[in-house]
Amino acid sequence: MIAENLQRIREEIAACAAKRRRAASPGPVKLVAVTKNHAVDAMREAIDAGAQAIGENRVQEALGKADVLQRDVEWHLIGHLQTNKAKQAVPLFQLIHSVDSERLALEINRVAGRCGKVQDILLQVNIASEESKFGVFKEAALPFAQFASRLENVRLSGLMAIAPHYADAEKTRPLFQEMFELFESLKAMRIPHTNFEWLSMGMSNDYAVAVEEGANLVRVGTGIFGERQY
Ligand SMILES: *Cc1c(COP(=O)(O)O)cnc(C)c1O
Repeated sequence: MIAENLQRIREEIAACAAKRRRAASPGPVKLVAVTKNHAVDAMREAIDAGAQAIGENRVQEALGKADVLQRDVEWHLIGHLQTNKAKQAVPLFQLIHSVDSERLALEINRVAGRCGKVQDILLQVNIASEESKFGVFKEAALPFAQFASRLENVRLSGLMAIAPHYADAEKTRPLFQEMFELFESLKAMRIPHTNFEWLSMGMSNDYAVAVEEGANLVRVGTGIFGERQY
């Protein structure tokens, strides 16, 4: 089931990427298989079927799984990161999607320096300005990028957004368009020590629209693994 789901989603992503209207399309799309609340067995099945990147939203859960997984895979942190957990997160994750404050970026920088690592991060943007969501408002993205530019052991590599959940995914389109424009405008500024490579947006219910609007990193859980058991 997992292998078939992955295959179907990859095909749909490719089809949506081909439909992009913009000339400045960011190239191939990377799929992050979101495995939170799913067992290590299911993760292995996905990896063996070709999943190259794993997304987890809790540091503790990811560390436990990494210990027993026995697979070489990229780890992506997609959930909110508390400043005091940066110590544990930095050694494991290739990309932290959910950075949402200068304070957190500063702590990641400090820990990464100690690990001898340059940590790739994304800035999480609260695109619909929802009270319940993490992330900075759009207006804060440029000041954050300028701040991150001065951190030696952090590389700001793009933006991440979680759209509101609409039954009709079409409703997310204007929000994804706004994110793409923000992403492109920041990229065009060529801020030193930043590398606007990734636009992380789209989940099971809205990844098709996200890819059509320029996402090149999509985070899909339910579509691959089925409903999570909490
Ligand atoms: C859980 C989660 C996903 C995946 O959600 P699905 O609807 O299961 O695809 C993507 N991004 C983030 C930040 C998540 O927490």
